[in-house]
Amino acid sequence: MIPYATAAEAEGALGRPMTWAEAAWFRYSSATPDYCLHFHTVILLSVVYTLVPLPLALLELRTSAKQTSPPYKLQPRVRRTPADFIRCYKNTVRVVAPAAGALQLHYYKIDLSFRPFVPMVGIRTGLPLPSVGETAAQLLVYFLVEDYQAYWVHRLLHTAWAYDKIHRVHHEYTAPIGFAAPYAHWAEVLILGVVAFASPAMVPCHVTTFWLWFALGGIQSIDTHSGFSFPLSPTRFIPFYGGAQHHDFHHYTGRHTQSNFAFIFTFCDYIYGTNKGYRLP
Ligand SMILES: [Zn+2]
Ligand SMILES: [Zn+2]
Repeated sequence: MIPYATAAEAEGALGRPMTWAEAAWFRYSSATPDYCLHFHTVILLSVVYTLVPLPLALLELRTSAKQTSPPYKLQPRVRRTPADFIRCYKNTVRVVAPAAGALQLHYYKIDLSFRPFVPMVGIRTGLPLPSVGETAAQLLVYFLVEDYQAYWVHRLLHTAWAYDKIHRVHHEYTAPIGFAAPYAHWAEVLILGVVAFASPAMVPCHVTTFWLWFALGGIQSIDTHSGFSFPLSPTRFIPFYGGAQHHDFHHYTGRHTQSNFAFIFTFCDYIYGTNKGYRLP
């Protein structure tokens, strides 16, 4: 919670007038305890994983009903029914939401001294708000660190024991859909949740950047699992971005794949030689 009783007090501490964004943040956060602010991450993730995959799911169902395939579908022969989407989403709610929620609560409350963990690593909720440049630079670092860490975690998940016990669940979808982005064993959700938290823990940010990081990470994961590759997608202009095509190949080749372990960019697979058999058109 912001430690100032009035806007004038906050401006006195800043040594300048607040921007409109800071004034809005002051109004919102001064009345909200920090544990509520941090719980916003769970709400945000629930909204992202529910609403973002919906348009392409509806498009796919509409064309499947006409026995056709929508344009730019990567595996056009695979037809989905409403039951497929409902089963996938139900799993997200049943497994992913409690695991992600538990992880978020752990970030906040449970450490040996029972002090809040998120503020301990330096994630702040006060003023000033970060600039656009600072936010963009931190998010870039987070995506690069996440990509590298998740690459190696994913490779480990493809060892025989880890695949059979954990990662097999995520690979049930050989032709991914957006709702299947978080479709995984609860242990994988926890492991990847810790990986996602590692970047802000290493380079601490403002809680608004923290929310943005989890929201963009969710959207990126949904895009990667969408099963569609649109020629004019804005992600095509991100250098080394793998996208749906890159990850779809990983799901298509399945259990014995040795290709395309990276979730975000393509350079880890290039550097470590795990892009064999995969060619961009
Ligand atoms: Zn995999
Ligand atoms: Zn996947």
